[in-house]
Amino acid sequence: MSVPVELQVEPAGISARLSSWRLLMNNRLAAAGLVALVLIGMAMLLVPVLPLADPDVTAPADRLKPVLAAGHPLGTDQLGRDMLSRLLWGARVSVAVGFAATLIAAVIGSAIGLVAGYAGGRTDNLMMRGIDMLMAFPYILLALAIVAALGPGLMNALYAIAVVNIPFFARNVRGVTLGLARREFVDAARLSGKGHLAVLATEVLPNVLPVIVITMSTTAGWMILETAGLSFLGLGAQPPQADLGSMLGEGRAQLFTAPHVSIVPGLMIFLLVISLNVLGDGIRDVLDPRLRSGALARPGPVTDIAADRGSFEPGARGSALSIRNLETGFLSAGGFVPAVRSVSLDLAPGECLGLIGESGSGKSVTALSVMGLVASPPGFIRDGAIYLGDEDVLAMSQTRLIASRGSRVAYIFQDPLTSLHPMYPIGRQVEEAIGAHQRMGRGERREKAVALLEKVGIPDARDRAAHYPHQLSGGQRQRVGIAMALANDPDIIIADEPTTALDVTVQARILELLRDLQRERNLALLFITHDFGVVAEICDRVAVMRDGEIVETGPTGKVLASPQHAYTRRLIACVPELGLGDTFLDRIEHLFKQPKAEAQT
Ligand code: ADP
Ligand code: MG
Repeated sequence: MSVPVELQVEPAGISARLSSWRLLMNNRLAAAGLVALVLIGMAMLLVPVLPLADPDVTAPADRLKPVLAAGHPLGTDQLGRDMLSRLLWGARVSVAVGFAATLIAAVIGSAIGLVAGYAGGRTDNLMMRGIDMLMAFPYILLALAIVAALGPGLMNALYAIAVVNIPFFARNVRGVTLGLARREFVDAARLSGKGHLAVLATEVLPNVLPVIVITMSTTAGWMILETAGLSFLGLGAQPPQADLGSMLGEGRAQLFTAPHVSIVPGLMIFLLVISLNVLGDGIRDVLDPRLRSGALARPGPVTDIAADRGSFEPGARGSALSIRNLETGFLSAGGFVPAVRSVSLDLAPGECLGLIGESGSGKSVTALSVMGLVASPPGFIRDGAIYLGDEDVLAMSQTRLIASRGSRVAYIFQDPLTSLHPMYPIGRQVEEAIGAHQRMGRGERREKAVALLEKVGIPDARDRAAHYPHQLSGGQRQRVGIAMALANDPDIIIADEPTTALDVTVQARILELLRDLQRERNLALLFITHDFGVVAEICDRVAVMRDGEIVETGPTGKVLASPQHAYTRRLIACVPELGLGDTFLDRIEHLFKQPKAEAQT
């Protein structure tokens, strides 16, 4: 598809990695965290070779030297030991224990979560009740109890912290696995003969891995803190060994006379934990593709529109909808990638215009642009004008635009199961659509919803209104979608592949319903599809779209009888005819063997 020139330079893998890296570095906090961690990490790695004093050698004569004393840049503690040396050696211990605990908790917790989520049923129940038992105790108390049982010491503190953190990983991973284990691609892998272990390792684990990494990166700082906490209480590192927590604990007695003894390790803990946390957040944002595009960080109810658009007059007089020279695309790291280029369309009142093209040709982006529904970021309308009557939508105020959605232009989407709310009865959803634009009492609204459901052919509409989307068939769900679109008597309905998810007989009935409603209410219908059979069925005119551009428009009969563009001919050839049998495939094959440039779609 349309790839900006800048992006074509590098192979996909490298550029994806590069852009992840760039995204992480764009996040200033995460970058600062990374820099701090790298510096601390290097210092800790170099400790053994640095010319530092022995951290455990006491020198009673040099007790409590202040910061910047000769030979002791960070001063000395109550036993005259060099603070800098103890700090670096101590941080090394704390970080090592924190990371080791994270790793142990992640491995065991994720394994439990994977198995429980994948197996389900009794196994799941047993494992999760075990985890619940761990979670039933305040976890620092549990850690204390474990150390008390095992005896104080650094290793035992490590085990205790790992154990109390297992539930976080197990719970998180189980939740994600549960969702994945029933998905079709996992079923497909099972059907292909893979064993459970192989399915877990090759299908489920890669999908769960980001969650594990994110949980690890966000809990590592926490675990360092917990290790320090146990050491602070005297249950972790034992004297004379230094770790950040025990240093803090020892400094407590001199908090007022020599504050540096506790402030120095305290600052180090703070720095470590905060850098780990901001870096963890940054990694999470980069790994989650939705956060990455900025969609969740700044969900835009309105598509961003360029200020310096050209001025375009509406097309034919009296059009219900007139799109002029529309250019919509997506902003990415590599720049603006247009998905739709110089698209112009006119839709008269009471007319059905088919917008046809293969998947990815830009039909949905065009349709969503009309009401500013392309999510920004990354969506961006760079040029063009969209007239509803004689009002330019792209110049409308946000409130006016939102008020026009549903009341002047309504949408019907492809997949009625995902566009309906799974937790509300359908009647209530239609009522909500009515309530969005019309003030009326509850009873009246309910009556209107039932009437609409009847209108679109839901049998026993009054009883059915209390049903949930999952209790309806695909065709009935799409009828509910149509009822919601009709709720506020819009002038224009944009139907984006409304029958693609349905089987042919249901499709025929939905098309019939749409056509009848359209005629009866003099609706302008923009009907998006990839199927010329459907266009022939209900559209007066058709516009053929390819790679974001309209390549041909005209009355349906004329385009069908004498298509001008090779692409149109191919789309028409893709409609099977009864009784054609094998020759149909031959015909398609022949058409797709056209010149190279033509075939690369
Ligand atoms: P269709 O004709 O099948 O409805 P679309 O209009 O959905 O196609 O998509 C047109 C092009 O826009 C595709 O190349 C698609 O990859 C791109 N596109 C759609 N949504 C996004 C998005 N959120 N970010 C980046 N590109 C997108
Ligand atoms: Mg689409």
